[in-house]
Amino acid sequence: MQPLLTDLNAIAALAAQRRDDFEVMRYQLQYNDDLTDTALDAFVDAIAAPIVAAIDCTQCAHCCRVLDVYLMPDDVSRLASGLQQPTQAVTKRYVHHQAAQQVGEWGKLRGKPCPFLRGKLCNVYTHRPQTCRLYPQFTPDFRWVLDDLIDGAALCPIIYHVLSGVHEQMDALYQ
Ligand code: SF4
Ligand code: SF4
Repeated sequence: MQPLLTDLNAIAALAAQRRDDFEVMRYQLQYNDDLTDTALDAFVDAIAAPIVAAIDCTQCAHCCRVLDVYLMPDDVSRLASGLQQPTQAVTKRYVHHQAAQQVGEWGKLRGKPCPFLRGKLCNVYTHRPQTCRLYPQFTPDFRWVLDDLIDGAALCPIIYHVLSGVHEQMDALYQ
């Protein structure tokens, strides 16, 4: 695969330019009853895999700087283990319950950029929250998470390239 563009300003500009294309794609997929969710997800996974492999997140870390990280109790236990601190102390220092509950979540990591980011590396990588492990997530249910992914394309090079790839290869879905 050719080297992929990862400059964040350029990605944000391209995502804005292509937003209408992505919205049309979302509309077409949402109303395509002939294409199952399983078939669409397999198609997207095949496009995403080489893109995920080609982009080095340790040279970016933009998501760790700008996104909210929502937590579950298991995440806090794992962080406490990694930090070798009592769970109660980690909860008090790092978990914001009120802000999370406003959006129906259990907890939210305090601070942005993430307090565990060191340069462009995660200081708790093996103990990081589940949300961080999954991001950016395209499947299952690509058809139904595409709305959020279109917003995410402006801040994550992986998301932008995967949506571009799916858009460019859409014709193959109808053959
Ligand atoms: S997931 Fe996206 S925003 Fe996060 S570090 Fe990787 S390329 Fe950057
Ligand atoms: S815990 Fe690690 S992976 Fe998650 S946002 Fe913070 S620095 Fe990034």
